[in-house]
Amino acid sequence: MQGDPRRVAMISVHTSPLEQPGTGDAGGLNVYVAETATQLAARGIEVDIFTRRTTGETPVEAELVPGVRVRHVTAGPYEGLSKEDLPGQLCAFSAGIMQAGLSVPEDHYDLVHSHYWLSGQVGWLAADRWRVALVHTMHTMARVKNLHLADGDTPEPRGREIGEVQVVEAADRLIANTDGEARELIELYAALPSKVSVVPPGVDLDTFTPGDRGAARAALGLPVEGDVLLFVGRIQPLKAPDMLLRVAAELLERDPGRRDRLTVAVVGGPSGSGLTRPHELEELAVSLGISDVVRFVRPVERTVLAQWYRAADLVLVPSYSESFGLVAIEAQACGTPVVAADVGGLPTAVGDAGVLVDGHRVGPWTDAVEALLRDRPHRLELGRRAVEHAAGYGWAATTDRLVEVYRQAILGRQASGNDSPIDEGRALVGVPTAVIP
Ligand code: UDP
Repeated sequence: MQGDPRRVAMISVHTSPLEQPGTGDAGGLNVYVAETATQLAARGIEVDIFTRRTTGETPVEAELVPGVRVRHVTAGPYEGLSKEDLPGQLCAFSAGIMQAGLSVPEDHYDLVHSHYWLSGQVGWLAADRWRVALVHTMHTMARVKNLHLADGDTPEPRGREIGEVQVVEAADRLIANTDGEARELIELYAALPSKVSVVPPGVDLDTFTPGDRGAARAALGLPVEGDVLLFVGRIQPLKAPDMLLRVAAELLERDPGRRDRLTVAVVGGPSGSGLTRPHELEELAVSLGISDVVRFVRPVERTVLAQWYRAADLVLVPSYSESFGLVAIEAQACGTPVVAADVGGLPTAVGDAGVLVDGHRVGPWTDAVEALLRDRPHRLELGRRAVEHAAGYGWAATTDRLVEVYRQAILGRQASGNDSPIDEGRALVGVPTAVIP
């Protein structure tokens, strides 16, 4: 069909789809990139994913699946750079991508899809030089994060906000996970409504399936009887994993007899500002007097993660900000109800199959968890609805919608004679930043 993409360049500067998600900078974005690239390849669309080389052993190219290449670009020292150091390496990354992208004539892309603002900056240049459309997904936004900071969290710098505004302006199309994120793009970043498309992310419905709770617990060495509460994700203040521990302490305070039948598990590793205090959560468990019921588990690959979801009675997602929350939809696909913060994309991810809690006060969170632990029939009913709800979110559906957005972007570019959507002069003098209050 006219406008159909054949070769797509994805850009993910700061984290590679080959990394294990759940710690450091690897999380939902990595899963999103890997899953959608795999689905695109299954539709005959070749994908090159450009990411930064982070070790001396990293090959120049690696195959993720047939049809998807991960291309490692040298930009700065391999090791020792944090995400915060990367704005200084964007020029080097762009130079690398220019060489890698056009090294042979048939290496011509129909479209660039950039993920996160750092990649958007590179994608802006790449799309302009290759005279193709730029589709951009924010994943998280500085202005949204700064409006919902957790206690002790560091605000996102102004340089990121300015960079995001520029990318919003430069992109032909912007992908939002939810209607709420689309509104944020329009209201906080002055995105043109006609450029924003809502494409919900997905869940691997073959891996995250309901299963026998007892068998999952036995496989993980958990007690077969009793209550299991679970947190999965990167350990940083924004994700509020401390809420799980505080809720557990409050449950035990309310009913000390519960101690023998409660297990609390945290699956994930330190990330972001959590890296400065990697043992803070263990210390909190000690100071709350609950370390005997808490298990800390390093990030696990997804077949094992599915067992953790199945083993749990409830999964808590208490984030302060979340553009969607893949963990919430994965838990539900495994038939486990979610108790989530009423923020960002979580109401969409949870639907009517879980419980949303306003704010981050321990009392209301404990009330919600306690009520569900007491009411097994209601929990089972929510679990059943959770599976149904998650069934609407396969990566195939996400990718179908992405391909449609790609087509619109390609046709839009062709119709405009391949001109960039921004007027060069405005971009150069930074007029878009005028919308920064
Ligand atoms: N994850 C994983 N193993 C772990 C912990 C997390 O594979 O031990 C994955 C999880 O399956 C999910 C992603 O990390 O797909 C986290 O995505 P989410 O949207 O919940 O949060 P983000 O990391 O994007 O903030």
